[in-house]
Amino acid sequence: MGTSRVALKYMTRFRCLADKCEDTCCEGLNVDVDRLSYERLQQAVAGNATMQDKVTRLVVLNASATGVRDHAMLQMDAAGCCGFLDEKKLCSLQSTYGEQVLSDSCALFPRSISQVDERIELSGSLACPEVARLCLLSDDSVGIVDIDASAQPRGYVGKQLKKTKTDAYGFYLDDVRSLLLRILTVSEYPLSLRMAATAHFAHRIGEFYFRGSPEFDKNWQACEKRMREEIEMIGQPELWTDMKEQFFGRRHFAADALAFVASALDSRLKLPAPERFKGLVSSVLAHYRGEAGKRGEGRPADAMWEVYEQRYTLLSKHFGADLERLFHHYGFQYWFRDWYTASDRLLDHAIKLLGRMGAIRFLIGGHPDVVKLAQELASAPAPSKEQRDRFSRAMIEAVQGFVKAVEHTPPYLRIVDNALTSTEDPFSQALNFARLL
Ligand code: SF4
Repeated sequence: MGTSRVALKYMTRFRCLADKCEDTCCEGLNVDVDRLSYERLQQAVAGNATMQDKVTRLVVLNASATGVRDHAMLQMDAAGCCGFLDEKKLCSLQSTYGEQVLSDSCALFPRSISQVDERIELSGSLACPEVARLCLLSDDSVGIVDIDASAQPRGYVGKQLKKTKTDAYGFYLDDVRSLLLRILTVSEYPLSLRMAATAHFAHRIGEFYFRGSPEFDKNWQACEKRMREEIEMIGQPELWTDMKEQFFGRRHFAADALAFVASALDSRLKLPAPERFKGLVSSVLAHYRGEAGKRGEGRPADAMWEVYEQRYTLLSKHFGADLERLFHHYGFQYWFRDWYTASDRLLDHAIKLLGRMGAIRFLIGGHPDVVKLAQELASAPAPSKEQRDRFSRAMIEAVQGFVKAVEHTPPYLRIVDNALTSTEDPFSQALNFARLL
């Protein structure tokens, strides 16, 4: 069988905005330079002493490289920007030597290209504001569509998976991932319940399905049968009725989940990040803390939860469909692009998604423009077109800033993810975070 290629639909619509973009791709990112590109660049600048010196200063060998992909790194300036940007914030390497001297990371951003067996999968990074808008603001953006080879520049492939029976965890990626995407799409249930259903499924199969599980080696057939039964069970309405009763009837600790989110974002402020994101996080934290402080006695976490809940009661009334689409598409993108096989357990991966969704909701709800909108709409029947547009802009700013400053900062993300998943009761952790949605 030959190679097939698929993409999330929004990537077929993507065109880089270049100098019309409100962002600079590399600002605030760690940019790796692969070995081949490093060598190509050295050859391109040979004979030009000024450029050679610049390349030596700005493209430094990576002392902790794990392979050819992260052979070297771009040195960013104090503002987190690449030193090769010209006064118009465009890449001077590209304008002088052409696209071919760029590293794979620079040439391919915001594309993400992976391969499962003979299938190439293309998606995008929401750290690009144009990708974020295309993915999160249109109804039909996350369908999976066929594409041709021209959508795979340089024939590049990032992570790869060959399904073999020596790795049961990877072997079922397609089956499990299809189910996760299906659960997310069951629109008759609220997102919080859909995510709780995901946690239920992950918790149940987690007994025998995880990275390095010995169960499949002992009896593959029995495990396969159980896996199929669990997958089919999600289609039963009675299961959803039970889950709904349990989820909404259960005592929850969403206030603590929200406090975790606030403290994780607070700690991000201590590291370098784009100023726009730092400004947003500072003002969101000040807003929630200020409003919570007005509520008098009691735990600050409970007061913050009250402010958050009240805010989302209003936002859901006026922008419910926009929020539903945004988080549905964000989740779809996560399951499709960030394979759960990167986590030891599926439930851990679900908790990480819930943590990210909670943080983004927190940022949107406390975004200064959304706070103003909430005041304007407190007694209004419906938002105007202009108010809807402002809400969309605030959502995109929150998601794009978060993805760039958090999801693209691996050392920080690892610490937060570990804190999220290192709990004695991961299933309850997942359900508590699901209440933030
Ligand atoms: S952030 Fe996206 S749209 Fe903007 S310049 Fe970079 S790739 Fe192009």
